Formats: sequence, C-alpha cells, structure tokens
Amino acid sequence: MTNVQDGRDGRKVLPPGSTIGILGGGQLGRMTAMAAARLGYRSVVYAPEAHSVGGDVATGHVQGTYEDTAALARFAAEVNVITYEFENVPEATVAECARHKPVRPGIKPIHLAQHRLREKEFFRTSGLGTAAYQRIASEGDVAAATTLPGILKTCTEGYDGKGQVRVATRQEVAAAWEKLDRRECILEAVVDFQCEVSAIVARGLGSEVRCFPIGLNEHRDGILRTTAVPSGLSPDIEQQARNYGLHLAKSLDLVGLVAIEMFVTRDGRVLANEMAPRPHNSGHWTIDACATSQFEQLVRAICGLPLGAVDILAPSRMVNLIGDEADGWAGYLADPAARLHLYGKGKARPGRKMGHVTYVTPTR
Ligand code: AMP
Repeated sequence: MTNVQDGRDGRKVLPPGSTIGILGGGQLGRMTAMAAARLGYRSVVYAPEAHSVGGDVATGHVQGTYEDTAALARFAAEVNVITYEFENVPEATVAECARHKPVRPGIKPIHLAQHRLREKEFFRTSGLGTAAYQRIASEGDVAAATTLPGILKTCTEGYDGKGQVRVATRQEVAAAWEKLDRRECILEAVVDFQCEVSAIVARGLGSEVRCFPIGLNEHRDGILRTTAVPSGLSPDIEQQARNYGLHLAKSLDLVGLVAIEMFVTRDGRVLANEMAPRPHNSGHWTIDACATSQFEQLVRAICGLPLGAVDILAPSRMVNLIGDEADGWAGYLADPAARLHLYGKGKARPGRKMGHVTYVTPTR
C-alpha cells in the first residue's frame, strides 16, 4: 500500500489502492464493493457461503464461519480496514477482527443494534424520544404488562417484522410471549404514526458528519416497500429527524454510516424506532439521485477520505423488488424513468429482497 498518511485525528488515511474487508456477503456488501471499486479500492468479502452476491463483485472472497478464527485472521491479513454489512455479525467475530485491523464502525454500534432493549435505552439516554416500552422476560413481567395496545418484539434476531406480535390485552401478551418461545422481549406501545422516515448519517475519521436527505418510507408486511425523497414533510419535522440522526452518530462516536428509522406522530413528534450501523435499504435511492451514494460515503468515511456532498440531484422514489417481482425486469428496463438494480440472487423466495428500482424524475 502506498502513501499512508496520518488522518486529522492521528488515525490512518487509507488511499485508493487499499483494500476494504466486508463481513457479510449480501447485497449491501455487494453495492459497497461496487462503490469501492469505482474509487479505486479493492474489497474482500468474508461470508460463510461458498458463493455470495457480495463476493461475486468483490476483488476477493474468504469463506468461513463467523467463529473460524483462522479464516478471520486470513481475511484480516488481506485487508486494511474492516466493515460489516449486517448488524447481526456476532460481537466476538468483530472483536476477533479488531485484534488484527481497524473495524469501522466497531463493536459498540452492533452491540446496541443487536438488542432492541439496549438500543431503546441508548436512544433514551442519548436524548432521542421513543415509543413507551417495557421489558417482558418473565411471567411476572407479563402479569404487569401495561403498555397496551402494543407490539411484542423479541430483543434479538428480529428484522423485517419477524419476531413481532401485535397485542391488545394482557392475555394476548401471555399467548404471544409463549409463541415467541418465552424469549426476552420488549413490549412497545403501538404508535399512531402519520408516516415513517429515516435518516442516514455518515461520520468520518476526523468527526466530520453529513446527513443524507430524509427519506419517506412505506412498509408492507414489516418490509420496506418504497422510499421517496424529498420527503414532502415540513422543514421542522425534517430538521427533527436530521437532528436525531446527527445526535446518534455523535453519541456512538461513529466512524462509518448509521441509519435510524423513525415514526412521525400525528402531532408532529419524531420517535426513534431502530438503527442500523451500515448502509440501509432506505438509502438505495442515493446511487441514482444523490451527489454521493451511501455506499461511496461509507467507503469515504472508513478510509478517512473527505465525506461527499449529499445534495439531491433529482426527486426520486425507490421501490424494492421482493420475491418474484424481479421477474418483471424487462418492463423496468423499458421504462426510461426507472433505474434497475438486481442483486444477482439465485432463487426468488417470498419476502426475499431481489433488487430495487429507482424512479428518477428529471428536475425542470
Ligand atoms: P421494526 O422491525 O421495529 O422496524 O418494525 C417493522 C415495522 O413494523 C415498522 O417499520 C413499522 O411499520 C411497524 N412497527 C414497528 N413498531 C411499531 C410501533 N411501536 N408502532 C407502530 N408500528 C410499528
């Protein structure tokens, strides 16, 4: 590697030509590897599968389980910095990698994002508003449940609406808790929201921060369906959402990207729902309609480069292609307003994210 200089905070700037290690072989790593290549970086994906859609486009691929310390050491030896493309990488894996190379954004963000209760408590102590919630981990907790109507969510391993049950009475809490195998849960008040939004914030090695324009998100069956930018919300609500994102990035002492999903209540308050310390599905529009994509911004942040501009180039709407929707690729290609992205996944299963389309409206 050539020309390694000290960053503003004494940490190393990694110039183009360096190699980025990515834990996880999914589409977020794939698009990060593509952005890295565009800036002249190399990338190595680490994944348990022999074949991964991230590995397909990366410079290199190391196969190993997340517990395989020898394979992790081989991976770390090939790269200059390590990031992760999903927040359920075991903490011990990240700790093992960190013995060899810098891991950005590091352990703390995944420690929090892997556990809904820890995450909510961190939001509260960082001054971010959330829905009312209580812990449900025993029969006594069930008997004392008052956050109703609510949503019972497992603290760990729930995503895209999995591990969640809506409940209206204490009896329903009891039944739902059984259904969730009596695991540690959080009972959250149902928020009567007007809409859902997200902020994606990058923070660089020298603490520089940039927040992408706020996305207006629609979910279906717990899975993100569309993101529209600009959001069309009032400047005041957008500012609240941006402040939550910026505040969170600072509280985490982040180097990298963090996305925060929020509810906007009918009376105009913003409540934090969950965070993801990685590129986020609601930021895919940035590839086609923002001065810098979220993936390039991640590369810039973790390599110590100046962060890119986050101006909207054109109003846009991202639509996820889920399951067999991606089979309609020919139609999207024929639409001049549509930019098609397919992730190269073999089998379309219901609920599986196969690609996305960004509709870009030319500005006048
Ligand atoms: P989550 O896995 O927490 O992101 O939840 C997935 C989706 O379920 C959210 O994007 C919302 O549409 C809905 N949801 C989750 N929690 C709540 C809540 N407390 N009140 C209302 N809707 C919720």
